[in-house]
Amino acid sequence: DKTNTMQPLKVTVVGTGYVGLGTAIMLAYLGHQVTGLDVDQSKVDMLAGGELPIYEPGLDQLLRDSKDRLRWTTDYTTAIPDADVIFICVGTPPNADGSPNLRFVAEAARSIAQNLNGKVQVVVNKSTVPVGTGDWVARIIEDNAREYSSGRYLVVSNPEFLREGTALYDSLYPDRIVLGSDSSLGIERMRLLYAPLLDQSFEAPAYVPRPSNYERPELVATALSSAEMIKYAANAFLALKISFANEIAGLCERVGADISEVTQGIGHDKRIGHRFLNAGAGWGGSCFGKDTSALISTGSEYGYSMPILEAAIAVNQRQRSLIINKLQQHLHRLKGKRVAVLGMAFKPNTDDLRDAPAHDTIQRLTALGATVVAHDPIAMPRARREWQHLSYTEAESVRAAVRGADAVIIATEWDEYRELDWNALLVDMRGRLIIDTRNIITTQPDRCTLEQIGKRSGVGVPHLP
Ligand code: NAD
Repeated sequence: DKTNTMQPLKVTVVGTGYVGLGTAIMLAYLGHQVTGLDVDQSKVDMLAGGELPIYEPGLDQLLRDSKDRLRWTTDYTTAIPDADVIFICVGTPPNADGSPNLRFVAEAARSIAQNLNGKVQVVVNKSTVPVGTGDWVARIIEDNAREYSSGRYLVVSNPEFLREGTALYDSLYPDRIVLGSDSSLGIERMRLLYAPLLDQSFEAPAYVPRPSNYERPELVATALSSAEMIKYAANAFLALKISFANEIAGLCERVGADISEVTQGIGHDKRIGHRFLNAGAGWGGSCFGKDTSALISTGSEYGYSMPILEAAIAVNQRQRSLIINKLQQHLHRLKGKRVAVLGMAFKPNTDDLRDAPAHDTIQRLTALGATVVAHDPIAMPRARREWQHLSYTEAESVRAAVRGADAVIIATEWDEYRELDWNALLVDMRGRLIIDTRNIITTQPDRCTLEQIGKRSGVGVPHLP
């Protein structure tokens, strides 16, 4: 019965980055009263004015549709005391040694603790944190709560699996919701919170289409530490899949096989599946690199080595050098050469630049004396702020980027790059070399050298009769 499943709760989301914003707006859409809190005044001001500080498809619309149940603040003293559920969604960036930096989590936990009301409140950790952090957060809360009241502050781990670029779909139609807690009361309150999503008849708004084979998500209730491990194990496995495809791709190039055909062939095996087997420039983004390193660093605390993960990271690094190697094979010295880089974001449909392969590519090209002209349909304004240490010229269009270039590198598989008319573009270039690091070109343009990943040479390795 739908009427029984929805009980509006008061929710505060601490940290309004990619994860916190998605969480806050989604929960408001489900009918909860949500406060989004951030220490960054400029983000809060933007949000209060109805603007989003990040680019995520559809999120602006969901924000408009849910705005009556949302407010934004920097003030812990008003955001915490009334909340039934408090999410921690602050960043956990890597330290130099690969371990995650938990400073923001500790600061948030302390600020939350100082404003708890002494009644039962659930503190939910959504940031990706190493196993044991939940207990540590519980300790920080007990140590800092104004009135000590043991057992009233329930800590739940609720790891986030959303992908930037499809965050709305992932939060509204998740495969599973993982809840880790050593208190059944904590799990029960979270079940209330997510009740609408757990209902088979749930429909998100029309701009987030319901999958045709929709099955309501599995609610996976676990021990606190298992939930924390699930997040790392999931990301590590996905990173592994990509590195595996890249490793096989390298061998394909040598033996004259085609990686797209190979992954197509193996993906039909249901035990393997098609997803996350794209060979290319390797993984990037804020999560895979940091989470694989964090897992290895946790292992080393226990004197436990993780050779599979170490190899996955090494393959990913090799993939980034490969792009430059391919360029050198054709252009030889890069000094004085002009290279167009298409795509800066670490993947399409986001403006997130963290650990983007394009960053390394631009850095290496300029170190070798090349001139770089870069283009991205969405991420250029963010790059202007975050990539000031890099030297490249912005191009307002693909055409402007490739004009006079000796070579072009496709670094991000934006849809608009899939549809380019290369025969028209190549006319403006000085060289006729395309390094398609995402294997998105499906028809070989005329009289050009096309390098892709995992293909012997260009598109369409000839088949034997
Ligand atoms: P982010 O850097 O975009 O956002 C973090 C926000 O927290 C910032 O706005 C920052 O100002 C705010 N903040 C920092 N300290 C604070 C404090 N003491 N009080 C209030 N706000 C504070 O980070 P993100 O990408 O949203 O990631 C958050 C967490 O979620 C990380 O642990 C990450 O690993 C995990 N995660 C991210 C993704 C993703 O796709 N981005 C997916 C799953 C999990």
